[in-house]
Formats: sequence, structure tokens, C-alpha cells
Amino acid sequence: MARERIEILVAGALKEQDAALASRRAHLAKKIAMRHRVRMPYEIRQLYCKKCKAFIVPGRTARVRVGRSGTKAVRVTCALCGHTYRKVISKSSHYKDL
Ligand SMILES: [Zn+2]
Repeated sequence: MARERIEILVAGALKEQDAALASRRAHLAKKIAMRHRVRMPYEIRQLYCKKCKAFIVPGRTARVRVGRSGTKAVRVTCALCGHTYRKVISKSSHYKDL
């Protein structure tokens, strides 16, 4: 139940055009996860900056660079704090299509 709500909120945040609304939804999702002690799925955890905890929308609030062909990782740079980290794209990830 809680996990379902989190997924809906995150999916909505990714589609949200308003950056402020998107981060509000994302933070609400995080709150629900904490309150219900639900572990966020890996795909969702990847959407939060590890440094400033901001919600990252690939291609919008973050710069995404795909590595050499064949690699399954992209470089994500947070637009807020400039923190760069590698994001591994798993085949099971369906959030990148949202
Ligand atoms: Zn950041």
C-alpha cells in the first residue's frame, strides 16, 4: 500500500512540469517511505541526489551523460549542488520511460 503510493507519487513527480510541485511530491514520497519503514526501490532512490537530497529529474534538473557505448551507466549531475554520480541503468528499470 505505502509502496504503491510512493510509486504513484514519484511517477507523478517525474511527469510534473512544475519543478516545485515535482519536488514536493518527491519529498512526500520519501516521507511515506520513512513513516512506513518502506525501502525505496532502487530506481526511485536513484532519483534523489545523494548529496543535497533534491529530487532529480533526468534531463531537467540534472545533466545526464551516457558513457561509452556498451556501458550501462550514465553520469548524472545535480543542477542544485553540482554533485555528480553514476547511475546504473538496469534492464528492469521502467521509470526511465515515464
Ligand atoms: Zn544535489
